[in-house]
Amino acid sequence: MNIIDVVTSAHSGSSGKGTSYWTEVSTCSRASKLRRKHGDTLRLVKPNPKANIGVMFHAIAEQYHLGKLTHDDIAWGMQSNLDADTLEAIRIALAYTQRYAPDHFGKVLATEKLIPSNELETMAIARMLGLDKPYTARIDLVTYLDEERLAYLEQAHCLLLNGPGIYLVDHKTHGAIDSQAQTHAELSVQFLAYPLIWNATQPEPCRGIIENNVVRHAKLAGKSFYLAFRATQQDDLMMLQRWVQWAHAQEEADIPNLAACRGKFGPCEFYTVGLCDRK
Ligand code: SF4
Repeated sequence: MNIIDVVTSAHSGSSGKGTSYWTEVSTCSRASKLRRKHGDTLRLVKPNPKANIGVMFHAIAEQYHLGKLTHDDIAWGMQSNLDADTLEAIRIALAYTQRYAPDHFGKVLATEKLIPSNELETMAIARMLGLDKPYTARIDLVTYLDEERLAYLEQAHCLLLNGPGIYLVDHKTHGAIDSQAQTHAELSVQFLAYPLIWNATQPEPCRGIIENNVVRHAKLAGKSFYLAFRATQQDDLMMLQRWVQWAHAQEEADIPNLAACRGKFGPCEFYTVGLCDRK
């Protein structure tokens, strides 16, 4: 496979109505409504390099873990005339593929797996959540970890995993090390939801979800690559049901949430481009 084809055909990675969508609805229904109406235009007038790099990295990692793209194939991309965001994603992928073999996380069962993929899976998720509304998940990597690989991963990353079986892996690209990565994994709605969605729709349940963190350091060293892990817990289903039901109830509202206008990464983009007057 050709690296140029991979990066030029990369998609946004959005699963449609998944965790990101419902999180925005539950955070500010005005923002969610504006994104549905103006999201495509906003992406054109306000490019997001961080998101672009993440999208490209995901596309390269998908083909690498499938064994369709080698480290040398990726290296070839650095000689090309691609834009800065794509070259940065290739640079990160080169450092990643130097350290992680395609089967680093075990035997690859699927990449970029979108659930639900049929009517039966849609019904299974709706039944689990107690709602007749969609909740989608796009899982970056699905693997099977045997005893040997499990021991290797536990030793290499100091991760206490959950026995042999199926694991979901989620790639995250960051600008800096997240010292709270394990807490993020424990409290993230995405990590609550994905294993439950998998278990409700697939024949064999998973053992949990691994967060695969890659930091865009200028010098990509060992500390730029680290993992976190979350196993499904007893109260997870009830917690997800309550959160989703509350988020769904906000979907048709158009209520500005002034507490959300200044987010972790700066002012709300709908405010900065003049689409929301906060009233
Ligand atoms: S500016 Fe504030 S109220 Fe308006 S969409 Fe953004 S977060 Fe919501």
